[in-house]
Amino acid sequence: MARMCRTAATQTPSKLSLLRLLVTGTGYLVMVINLPRVLGFSSKRTGIVYDARMRGHAKLIMSSFDYADPHPEDPRRTYRIYKTLAEAGLVDDHNFAGVMDVGRIMHRIPAREATAEEILLVHTKEHYDFLESTQTMPEEDLIRHTEEGDSVYFNHDSFYCAKLSAGGTIEACFAVVEETVKNAIAVVRPPGHHAEPEKPGGFCMFANVSIAAKCVFKKYPSIKKIAIIDWDVHHGNGTQKAFYDDPRVLFISLHRYDNGHFYPSGPAGNLDMCGKGEGAGYNINIPWPCKGMKDGDYIYAFRKIVMPVCEEFDPDFVIISSGFDAALGDELGGCCLKPAGYSHLTHMLKSLAGGKVCCVLEGGYNLNSISVSALAVTRTLLGEPPMHVEDTEFSAACAKVVAQVANIQSTYWKCLRPGKNVVASMKGKDDYERLHDVIRQYQARSLYEKFSMTQLPILRDRTSPSFSEQVLATPSFHENTKGLVVFVHDTLDVQGYVDPVTGALDVSGSYLLTPENRYIKWSIDQGYAVVDINIPSILTDLDDEDGYQAAANALDLMIYMWDYYLDHAAAPKIIFFGIGEACQALVHLLGHRDTRERTRAAISVVGPASLKAIVTILDEYVVDWYHRSSLVLLSNDHPIWDPTSHGKKPRRKLGTLVRADKKTTMKTPI
Ligand SMILES: [Zn+2]
Repeated sequence: MARMCRTAATQTPSKLSLLRLLVTGTGYLVMVINLPRVLGFSSKRTGIVYDARMRGHAKLIMSSFDYADPHPEDPRRTYRIYKTLAEAGLVDDHNFAGVMDVGRIMHRIPAREATAEEILLVHTKEHYDFLESTQTMPEEDLIRHTEEGDSVYFNHDSFYCAKLSAGGTIEACFAVVEETVKNAIAVVRPPGHHAEPEKPGGFCMFANVSIAAKCVFKKYPSIKKIAIIDWDVHHGNGTQKAFYDDPRVLFISLHRYDNGHFYPSGPAGNLDMCGKGEGAGYNINIPWPCKGMKDGDYIYAFRKIVMPVCEEFDPDFVIISSGFDAALGDELGGCCLKPAGYSHLTHMLKSLAGGKVCCVLEGGYNLNSISVSALAVTRTLLGEPPMHVEDTEFSAACAKVVAQVANIQSTYWKCLRPGKNVVASMKGKDDYERLHDVIRQYQARSLYEKFSMTQLPILRDRTSPSFSEQVLATPSFHENTKGLVVFVHDTLDVQGYVDPVTGALDVSGSYLLTPENRYIKWSIDQGYAVVDINIPSILTDLDDEDGYQAAANALDLMIYMWDYYLDHAAAPKIIFFGIGEACQALVHLLGHRDTRERTRAAISVVGPASLKAIVTILDEYVVDWYHRSSLVLLSNDHPIWDPTSHGKKPRRKLGTLVRADKKTTMKTPI
């Protein structure tokens, strides 16, 4: 140190002016070089929008119940996040009052009311006028609209707060684009991503993020492409609708879908919603089939889809629609993202658009979960390395959805395409056949040769190659008085190797898995009759890329089978044996026809597939009966076993559940 001081003392005055000697607390001398700041990005602060006025929007208290169980979109949400940031030392505001000067780490961006002109960039005049009218609306009308609306509530401050929320989001985005700050987090409410151009919904008034994106395009011609990543646990239906035909915005939503049963419900959040017209390919839905998705699942989806597509899209600006209702502890969401997971996702997105990222609060209803999650995101925005993720494993359900999304989006994105998507470019139907139709035809021939099984005629009003040989039966099955076994299964699996360059399945290295043959042989050896029902996941030639028709057809088919065949069979007892997703159709039958007298057992080998609770139109005893008479075999990693995702015992409506051990294959755990 002494030598260093001598060196400094011999410098010429001009050079010396660049050096400063400081005495540290421990008495050591240190030399500091006075240089102009050269790190443009990291020397900037992270912006924060927080405004206590947004707490004015609150649900009118209509009963004592509202006190005891407050509405989840609670005014305390933004306050608790802000308080957590302050307690962590990121915001210098000891009273959590929302001061303008928040210290040297973050930069407070003032919120303002969005103007009518800005809001009308996304919303209809009727929508705007309606919300404006709530300011002076009699309370009984506010209550009526609250009761009639799609999960929204109104008070006299709703319009004002919604304008502040949208305006705060706009200002946060402007500050990032103008590089006043390096990135930003907008802690705003009410949220926005469910608000559609013509109506509010899902606790959302105005579409904050969509409005901000449109304002950015309008004000900054240099911003030509914006990526909006929505990791709220619900589908961002409003954002999707605002940009569905707009190629300037890449919208990616990761959300629970639950086959269209999770809010906002319906097919809009499904993976086949890819955008239309010029916007085709710029809308990507990653729809989780169930609750319980974790850090590993989200990181996997980011690595496989979100990041490759974003890199190919190469946005000028990134907005995160950041609901924290996929966070561990959020009861509405039922998922398990931890702060570490959020920090990794944020870290990945920061690599885009030169770091121009604006994170905007959407949903999230566990006050503690949203606070620790927002803190992790903010730390990462500030430049802290992402936190350690404990559980990087991803689930089978996740891997399956991600593969399906990659497949459907490979038409639009080179990075998702293992070689050329030949089928998408083929015009004539004669040029290809869907493999599951081919496989079923093969299986029908094989079952005929082995067990003399033949097709049962099914009356239908439509035709599809997928219906061919759909139901097969052993000879004179209806006369067998010993017993009847009914197999209901997905199309057989192919274990195959896909060429990473051409995308073609290497047929010589692939195998058709036929575990059903073993079960059928066993049944016939016991002297039972057998009916084998194939449930395709998609109906070829019936415009059914989303599987909706196939699912509905499967339910109808099972009822038809009972009414026209099974109920009239001579066998006194029937064993039902479901395999894979097809088990859903079996459970549907057991809830909609009284099979109790005839059913000896209902065995479902669900594996990693979706689990269906019995819903009955019969009587209240069906659930108990189903619980007693069923055996539902699930893979070891099925989300239902995750103790953090529900915390209570599985419901009786799901049947008697059995968990496979870890070594058992997922598809057939027995
Ligand atoms: Zn949500």
